[in-house]
Amino acid sequence: MAVEPGRYFDETETITPEARERLQNENLYQAIGYAYRNAPFTRGLLDKAGVRPFSIRTVKDLEMLPIIRKNDLIEAQTASPPFGGLLAFPVAEVERVFISPGPIYEFQSSSIQWFARSMWAAGFRKGDIVVNTFTYHMSPAGTLFHEGLRQCGATVVVMGTGNTDALIKAMLDLQVTGFVGTPTYLMNVIKKAEEAGYNLILKFALKKTWFTGEMLPPSLRHIFEETYHLSTSQAYAVTEPGGAIAYECEEKSGLHLMDDYIVEIVDPQTGRRLKPGEVGEIVVTPIHNKSWGLVRFGTGDLSSLITAPCSCGRTAHKISGIVGRTGDAVKVRGMFVVAKQAEQVLGSFEQVAKFQIIVDRRASRDELCLKIELNSESGDTGKLEADIDKKFQEVCRVKPDKIEFLPPGTIPESHKTLEDIRKWE
Ligand SMILES: [Zn+2]
Repeated sequence: MAVEPGRYFDETETITPEARERLQNENLYQAIGYAYRNAPFTRGLLDKAGVRPFSIRTVKDLEMLPIIRKNDLIEAQTASPPFGGLLAFPVAEVERVFISPGPIYEFQSSSIQWFARSMWAAGFRKGDIVVNTFTYHMSPAGTLFHEGLRQCGATVVVMGTGNTDALIKAMLDLQVTGFVGTPTYLMNVIKKAEEAGYNLILKFALKKTWFTGEMLPPSLRHIFEETYHLSTSQAYAVTEPGGAIAYECEEKSGLHLMDDYIVEIVDPQTGRRLKPGEVGEIVVTPIHNKSWGLVRFGTGDLSSLITAPCSCGRTAHKISGIVGRTGDAVKVRGMFVVAKQAEQVLGSFEQVAKFQIIVDRRASRDELCLKIELNSESGDTGKLEADIDKKFQEVCRVKPDKIEFLPPGTIPESHKTLEDIRKWE
């Protein structure tokens, strides 16, 4: 099949899975060796774990190392300011320093193209005029997205946060074609423009949107696409390991992983890698350059790995969207269950008005019960029960032990979606 010219940002997006695996293992080996020699933090980490740098030859070997948390970075930089022994090259080579909450000083040494692939997949090209509504202040967001847009050839309106009236005026005056920001903010902008009497479809040239910072809910995506005829795309980015981790293609069914990182989905309690489809913590090891001596950074975000080939032609594995934070997850018979996943399942059944999940433990076995209130008196719930049971297992990977249909008003108004009532005695 002939590839349409310009469909992909670069050829790395379509290399064979085998070639990618070889490349990633090689880059990982180089990155760990370099960090061990040059970054005292990383050397200390490996020494403490009793791991020699040359033992990390494949992604699987990373399991020998502990997961580093944001707090570890804050402690390291407090104990050994300013960079906490994470800088693997001379300070004079640092191109810029970002300051993230903590504070954590992050440094970058080279120009980067990570966001460009994501912006390209979102359709930004030369000729587009794009408002970048992320902050340019201290944190990496504004600057890095700006560069990604420029690498696609688009013209960037340096907007930053906090001035919606000026933004609306600029969008109109400059006939802006693209929006980069959070989905919530775009919805606010649309509402405010409409309140001011503007017709977004007739008066504005906006066509393309790109989001990060929060996941795009399907309901909001539907409004943007169907009501306002906007194309939508999103990316997953994490500040500490340095940027873009995954990005959406036109299939909009998961986010492709960037080759600049090793991304693992692990059990946050043990650090062990989980199988595709299982929900766990996203753990990131940058292998893109030699700047950070950061290994196995635990993001605290929950997702799952998708290894099935994508029809867009990109060959990198994908992650599903972010389904919660590690604190939200309840482990049921070895699988992490998150309220948001359950909402995704139950929300797709029109008949369901309200639901609650109770996790209990009987005879040394975890039990998961779904309590459901229906919209109206429904005679035969047999088929509904079977459908919910099937979909719940597909998405959450746990079979409900019991599905109970309750009369309206039984589930308390201020209920927790996922209630863990197990007692560990
Ligand atoms: Zn794809």
